[in-house]
Amino acid sequence: MPMQSLPQKLYTKNNPFMIQKSICSALNNNEFHLMMQPIIELKVKGKCVEGECLVRWNSPLLGTVSPELFITIAEKSGLIIPLGNWIIENACRELASFIARGGDSEFNLHINISPVQLQQYDFAKELLDNIKKFGLKGCNICVEITEKTMIQKVEVVLINLNLLREEGVIISLDDFGSGYSGLSYLHTFPFDQLKLDRLFISDLLINPRSNSIVTSIISLSESLKIPLVAEGVEDKQTGDRLRDIGCKLAQGYYFGCPKLFNDWKV
Ligand code: C2E
Ligand code: CA
Ligand code: CA
Repeated sequence: MPMQSLPQKLYTKNNPFMIQKSICSALNNNEFHLMMQPIIELKVKGKCVEGECLVRWNSPLLGTVSPELFITIAEKSGLIIPLGNWIIENACRELASFIARGGDSEFNLHINISPVQLQQYDFAKELLDNIKKFGLKGCNICVEITEKTMIQKVEVVLINLNLLREEGVIISLDDFGSGYSGLSYLHTFPFDQLKLDRLFISDLLINPRSNSIVTSIISLSESLKIPLVAEGVEDKQTGDRLRDIGCKLAQGYYFGCPKLFNDWKV
Protein backbone atom coordinates (compact mmCIF):
# COMPACT_ATOMS: atom_id res chain seq x y z
CA MET A 1 0.00 0.00 0.00
CA PRO A 2 1.41 3.49 -0.85
CA MET A 3 2.66 5.69 2.01
CA GLN A 4 -0.18 7.72 3.49
CA SER A 5 -0.06 11.47 4.05
CA LEU A 6 -0.48 12.75 7.62
CA PRO A 7 -4.14 13.77 7.22
CA GLN A 8 -4.92 10.33 5.77
CA LYS A 9 -3.27 8.62 8.77
CA LEU A 10 -5.20 10.78 11.22
CA TYR A 11 -8.48 10.20 9.48
CA THR A 12 -8.13 6.45 9.06
CA LYS A 13 -6.53 5.50 12.34
CA ASN A 14 -8.38 7.91 14.63
CA ASN A 15 -11.42 8.98 12.78
CA PRO A 16 -12.62 6.82 9.89
CA PHE A 17 -15.88 8.74 10.14
CA MET A 18 -14.06 11.68 8.51
CA ILE A 19 -13.17 9.50 5.52
CA GLN A 20 -16.83 8.50 5.29
CA LYS A 21 -17.85 12.16 5.31
CA SER A 22 -15.22 12.91 2.68
CA ILE A 23 -16.57 10.13 0.43
CA CYS A 24 -20.02 11.74 0.60
CA SER A 25 -18.72 15.16 -0.41
CA ALA A 26 -16.38 13.59 -2.99
CA LEU A 27 -19.40 12.09 -4.74
CA ASN A 28 -21.10 15.49 -4.87
CA ASN A 29 -17.90 17.29 -5.96
CA ASN A 30 -16.90 14.87 -8.72
CA GLU A 31 -13.59 13.89 -7.09
CA PHE A 32 -13.68 10.30 -8.34
CA HIS A 33 -12.59 9.17 -11.76
CA LEU A 34 -12.16 5.89 -13.57
CA MET A 35 -9.15 4.25 -15.20
CA MET A 36 -8.90 1.22 -17.43
CA GLN A 37 -6.20 -1.45 -17.48
CA PRO A 38 -5.94 -3.76 -20.51
CA ILE A 39 -6.34 -7.54 -20.36
CA ILE A 40 -4.46 -9.01 -23.29
CA GLU A 41 -4.34 -12.23 -25.30
CA LEU A 42 -0.89 -13.76 -24.82
CA LYS A 43 -0.80 -15.67 -28.11
CA VAL A 44 -2.04 -12.89 -30.39
CA LYS A 45 0.83 -10.48 -29.69
CA GLY A 46 -0.92 -8.50 -26.99
CA LYS A 47 -4.33 -8.13 -28.64
CA CYS A 48 -6.60 -6.31 -26.18
CA VAL A 49 -10.30 -7.16 -26.17
CA GLU A 50 -10.99 -6.76 -22.46
CA GLY A 51 -10.05 -4.28 -19.74
CA GLU A 52 -10.60 -3.68 -16.04
CA CYS A 53 -12.19 -0.50 -14.76
CA LEU A 54 -10.50 0.83 -11.59
CA VAL A 55 -11.73 3.75 -9.50
CA ARG A 56 -9.44 6.59 -8.36
CA TRP A 57 -9.93 9.30 -5.77
CA ASN A 58 -7.92 12.52 -5.70
CA SER A 59 -9.17 14.31 -2.61
CA PRO A 60 -8.24 18.01 -2.21
CA LEU A 61 -8.00 17.34 1.54
CA LEU A 62 -6.45 13.87 1.73
CA GLY A 63 -4.50 13.65 -1.51
CA THR A 64 -4.61 10.44 -3.51
CA VAL A 65 -6.45 7.82 -1.47
CA SER A 66 -5.87 4.15 -2.27
CA PRO A 67 -8.99 2.31 -3.49
CA GLU A 68 -8.29 -0.53 -1.06
CA LEU A 69 -8.70 1.98 1.80
CA PHE A 70 -11.74 3.95 0.68
CA ILE A 71 -13.60 0.97 -0.80
CA THR A 72 -13.29 -0.85 2.56
CA ILE A 73 -14.66 2.19 4.43
CA ALA A 74 -17.39 2.64 1.82
CA GLU A 75 -18.37 -1.04 2.22
CA LYS A 76 -18.55 -0.80 6.02
CA SER A 77 -20.59 2.42 5.96
CA GLY A 78 -22.98 1.45 3.15
CA LEU A 79 -21.62 4.31 0.98
CA ILE A 80 -20.54 1.67 -1.51
CA ILE A 81 -24.12 1.72 -2.81
CA PRO A 82 -24.07 5.33 -4.12
CA LEU A 83 -20.36 5.06 -4.99
CA GLY A 84 -20.93 1.71 -6.76
CA ASN A 85 -23.86 3.20 -8.70
CA TRP A 86 -21.64 6.11 -9.74
CA ILE A 87 -18.95 3.66 -10.87
CA ILE A 88 -21.40 1.54 -12.89
CA GLU A 89 -23.01 4.51 -14.61
CA ASN A 90 -19.68 6.12 -15.47
CA ALA A 91 -18.04 2.85 -16.54
CA CYS A 92 -20.91 2.27 -19.01
CA ARG A 93 -20.67 5.89 -20.20
CA GLU A 94 -16.88 5.62 -20.72
CA LEU A 95 -17.22 2.33 -22.60
CA ALA A 96 -19.99 3.68 -24.84
CA SER A 97 -17.84 6.69 -25.71
CA PHE A 98 -14.79 4.41 -26.33
CA ILE A 99 -16.88 2.36 -28.81
CA ALA A 100 -18.31 5.54 -30.40
CA ARG A 101 -14.69 6.72 -31.00
CA GLY A 102 -14.06 3.53 -33.00
CA GLY A 103 -13.23 1.03 -30.23
CA ASP A 104 -14.20 -2.64 -30.69
CA SER A 105 -17.99 -2.93 -30.29
CA GLU A 106 -17.43 -6.34 -28.65
CA PHE A 107 -15.02 -4.91 -26.05
CA ASN A 108 -15.63 -6.41 -22.61
CA LEU A 109 -15.22 -4.02 -19.67
CA HIS A 110 -14.71 -5.54 -16.22
CA ILE A 111 -16.29 -3.72 -13.28
CA ASN A 112 -15.36 -4.63 -9.69
CA ILE A 113 -18.49 -5.22 -7.64
CA SER A 114 -18.58 -5.33 -3.83
CA PRO A 115 -20.53 -8.03 -1.97
CA VAL A 116 -22.77 -5.32 -0.45
CA GLN A 117 -23.88 -4.24 -3.92
CA LEU A 118 -24.79 -7.76 -5.00
CA GLN A 119 -26.81 -8.24 -1.81
CA GLN A 120 -29.28 -5.56 -3.01
CA TYR A 121 -32.42 -6.99 -4.63
CA ASP A 122 -32.37 -4.44 -7.44
CA PHE A 123 -28.66 -4.73 -8.29
CA ALA A 124 -29.05 -6.68 -11.55
CA LYS A 125 -31.84 -4.37 -12.74
CA GLU A 126 -29.73 -1.25 -12.04
CA LEU A 127 -26.79 -2.63 -13.99
CA LEU A 128 -28.95 -3.86 -16.89
CA ASP A 129 -30.73 -0.45 -17.03
CA ASN A 130 -27.35 1.28 -17.39
CA ILE A 131 -26.20 -1.17 -20.07
CA LYS A 132 -29.37 -0.34 -22.02
CA LYS A 133 -29.20 3.41 -21.35
CA PHE A 134 -25.75 3.63 -22.95
CA GLY A 135 -26.63 1.37 -25.92
CA LEU A 136 -24.35 -1.47 -24.78
CA LYS A 137 -24.89 -5.24 -24.87
CA GLY A 138 -24.77 -7.55 -21.84
CA CYS A 139 -21.60 -9.14 -23.21
CA ASN A 140 -19.84 -5.74 -23.11
CA ILE A 141 -19.74 -5.98 -19.32
CA CYS A 142 -18.00 -8.38 -16.95
CA VAL A 143 -18.78 -8.32 -13.26
CA GLU A 144 -15.72 -9.13 -11.11
CA ILE A 145 -16.58 -10.58 -7.72
CA THR A 146 -14.48 -12.15 -4.99
CA GLU A 147 -15.11 -15.10 -2.68
CA LYS A 148 -16.39 -12.68 -0.02
CA THR A 149 -19.48 -12.21 -2.18
CA MET A 150 -20.70 -15.73 -1.50
CA ILE A 151 -20.79 -15.47 2.30
CA GLN A 152 -23.91 -13.42 3.12
CA LYS A 153 -27.38 -13.29 1.54
CA VAL A 154 -26.22 -15.92 -0.95
CA GLU A 155 -29.75 -16.40 -2.33
CA VAL A 156 -30.06 -12.73 -3.34
CA VAL A 157 -26.53 -12.76 -4.75
CA LEU A 158 -27.30 -15.84 -6.88
CA ILE A 159 -30.58 -14.35 -8.16
CA ASN A 160 -28.69 -11.21 -9.26
CA LEU A 161 -25.85 -13.17 -10.87
CA ASN A 162 -28.26 -15.45 -12.75
CA LEU A 163 -30.32 -12.48 -14.02
CA LEU A 164 -27.13 -10.83 -15.31
CA ARG A 165 -25.88 -14.04 -16.90
CA GLU A 166 -29.20 -14.51 -18.73
CA GLU A 167 -28.56 -11.14 -20.40
CA GLY A 168 -25.06 -12.14 -21.46
CA VAL A 169 -23.09 -10.35 -18.71
CA ILE A 170 -19.84 -12.22 -17.95
CA ILE A 171 -19.23 -13.24 -14.33
CA SER A 172 -15.60 -13.46 -13.25
CA LEU A 173 -14.16 -14.78 -9.96
CA ASP A 174 -11.43 -12.31 -8.94
CA ASP A 175 -8.32 -13.03 -6.82
CA PHE A 176 -8.79 -16.76 -7.41
CA GLY A 177 -6.49 -18.79 -5.19
CA SER A 178 -5.99 -16.10 -2.55
CA GLY A 179 -8.79 -17.26 -0.22
CA TYR A 180 -9.74 -20.51 1.39
CA SER A 181 -12.62 -21.79 -0.66
CA GLY A 182 -12.17 -20.80 -4.31
CA LEU A 183 -12.66 -24.39 -5.40
CA SER A 184 -15.96 -24.78 -3.57
CA TYR A 185 -17.26 -21.61 -5.31
CA LEU A 186 -16.61 -23.22 -8.68
CA HIS A 187 -19.11 -25.80 -7.51
CA THR A 188 -21.68 -23.21 -6.37
CA PHE A 189 -21.83 -21.03 -9.47
CA PRO A 190 -20.93 -21.46 -13.16
CA PHE A 191 -18.36 -18.67 -13.42
CA ASP A 192 -17.44 -17.54 -16.94
CA GLN A 193 -13.89 -16.57 -16.05
CA LEU A 194 -11.28 -16.88 -13.29
CA LYS A 195 -8.67 -14.26 -12.42
CA LEU A 196 -5.64 -15.85 -10.86
CA ASP A 197 -4.31 -13.77 -7.96
CA ARG A 198 -1.00 -12.03 -8.54
CA LEU A 199 0.44 -13.70 -5.43
CA PHE A 200 1.27 -16.75 -7.60
CA ILE A 201 2.45 -14.71 -10.58
CA SER A 202 4.94 -12.44 -8.81
CA ASP A 203 7.43 -15.27 -8.11
CA LEU A 204 6.44 -17.66 -10.87
CA LEU A 205 9.95 -17.70 -12.35
CA ILE A 206 11.82 -18.34 -9.11
CA ASN A 207 9.45 -20.39 -6.99
CA PRO A 208 8.81 -23.96 -8.20
CA ARG A 209 5.75 -24.16 -5.92
CA SER A 210 4.12 -21.14 -7.61
CA ASN A 211 5.01 -22.68 -10.97
CA SER A 212 3.28 -25.95 -10.01
CA ILE A 213 0.22 -24.16 -8.62
CA VAL A 214 -0.18 -21.95 -11.72
CA THR A 215 0.30 -24.92 -14.07
CA SER A 216 -2.34 -26.92 -12.16
CA ILE A 217 -4.83 -24.04 -12.14
CA ILE A 218 -4.35 -23.54 -15.90
CA SER A 219 -5.13 -27.21 -16.50
CA LEU A 220 -8.13 -27.01 -14.10
CA SER A 221 -9.49 -24.01 -16.03
CA GLU A 222 -9.03 -25.90 -19.29
CA SER A 223 -10.87 -28.98 -18.11
CA LEU A 224 -13.70 -26.84 -16.69
CA LYS A 225 -13.64 -24.75 -19.91
CA ILE A 226 -13.45 -21.52 -17.88
CA PRO A 227 -11.00 -18.96 -19.32
CA LEU A 228 -8.28 -17.83 -16.92
CA VAL A 229 -6.65 -14.37 -16.64
CA ALA A 230 -3.25 -14.16 -14.92
CA GLU A 231 -3.05 -10.92 -12.91
CA GLY A 232 -0.01 -8.86 -11.97
CA VAL A 233 2.37 -9.65 -14.86
CA GLU A 234 5.23 -7.15 -14.47
CA ASP A 235 7.86 -8.41 -16.94
CA LYS A 236 8.28 -10.04 -20.34
CA GLN A 237 9.78 -13.28 -18.98
CA THR A 238 6.75 -13.94 -16.77
CA GLY A 239 4.40 -13.22 -19.69
CA ASP A 240 6.39 -15.62 -21.91
CA ARG A 241 6.38 -18.37 -19.27
CA LEU A 242 2.61 -18.01 -18.79
CA ARG A 243 2.06 -18.27 -22.54
CA ASP A 244 4.33 -21.33 -22.74
CA ILE A 245 2.42 -23.17 -20.00
CA GLY A 246 -0.90 -22.53 -21.75
CA CYS A 247 -2.27 -19.36 -20.14
CA LYS A 248 -4.23 -17.36 -22.72
CA LEU A 249 -5.10 -14.07 -21.02
CA ALA A 250 -3.04 -11.75 -18.82
CA GLN A 251 -3.07 -8.36 -17.13
CA GLY A 252 -0.31 -6.37 -15.47
CA TYR A 253 2.01 -3.37 -15.60
CA TYR A 254 4.13 -5.06 -18.29
CA PHE A 255 1.22 -5.01 -20.75
CA GLY A 256 -0.24 -1.69 -19.62
CA CYS A 257 -0.84 0.33 -16.47
CA PRO A 258 -4.31 1.69 -15.67
CA LYS A 259 -4.92 4.83 -17.77
CA LEU A 260 -7.81 7.21 -18.37
CA PHE A 261 -10.24 5.81 -20.95
CA ASN A 262 -9.57 8.80 -23.23
CA ASP A 263 -5.87 7.94 -23.29
CA TRP A 264 -6.47 4.49 -24.84
CA LYS A 265 -5.96 4.44 -28.59
CA VAL A 266 -8.83 2.79 -30.47
P1 C2E B 1 -8.18 -5.82 -7.88
O1 C2E B 1 -9.60 -5.91 -8.31
O2 C2E B 1 -7.44 -7.09 -7.68
O3 C2E B 1 -7.45 -4.89 -8.95
C1 C2E B 1 -6.16 -5.09 -9.43
C2 C2E B 1 -5.19 -4.20 -8.70
O4 C2E B 1 -3.86 -4.58 -9.08
C3 C2E B 1 -5.32 -2.74 -9.09
O5 C2E B 1 -4.97 -1.98 -7.95
C4 C2E B 1 -4.25 -2.58 -10.17
O6 C2E B 1 -3.79 -1.25 -10.34
C5 C2E B 1 -3.16 -3.47 -9.59
N1 C2E B 1 -2.24 -3.99 -10.61
C6 C2E B 1 -2.46 -4.16 -11.92
N2 C2E B 1 -1.38 -4.69 -12.54
C7 C2E B 1 -0.43 -4.86 -11.57
C8 C2E B 1 0.91 -5.37 -11.59
O7 C2E B 1 1.47 -5.77 -12.61
N3 C2E B 1 1.56 -5.41 -10.38
C9 C2E B 1 0.98 -4.99 -9.22
N4 C2E B 1 1.69 -5.05 -8.10
N5 C2E B 1 -0.30 -4.50 -9.18
C10 C2E B 1 -0.99 -4.44 -10.33
P2 C2E B 1 -5.87 -0.76 -7.46
O8 C2E B 1 -6.42 0.00 -8.61
O9 C2E B 1 -5.07 -0.04 -6.42
O10 C2E B 1 -7.10 -1.48 -6.78
C11 C2E B 1 -6.93 -2.24 -5.61
C12 C2E B 1 -8.23 -2.94 -5.27
O11 C2E B 1 -9.26 -2.00 -4.95
C13 C2E B 1 -8.78 -3.76 -6.43
O12 C2E B 1 -8.09 -4.98 -6.51
C14 C2E B 1 -10.22 -3.88 -6.02
O13 C2E B 1 -10.37 -4.87 -5.02
C15 C2E B 1 -10.49 -2.52 -5.41
N6 C2E B 1 -11.09 -1.64 -6.43
C16 C2E B 1 -10.48 -0.87 -7.37
N7 C2E B 1 -11.40 -0.25 -8.15
C17 C2E B 1 -12.62 -0.67 -7.68
C18 C2E B 1 -13.98 -0.37 -8.05
O14 C2E B 1 -14.27 0.37 -9.01
N8 C2E B 1 -14.96 -0.96 -7.31
C19 C2E B 1 -14.69 -1.81 -6.26
N9 C2E B 1 -15.70 -2.37 -5.59
N10 C2E B 1 -13.43 -2.12 -5.90
C20 C2E B 1 -12.41 -1.54 -6.60
CA1 CA C 1 -10.59 -6.93 -9.94
CA1 CA D 1 -7.64 -9.14 -8.61
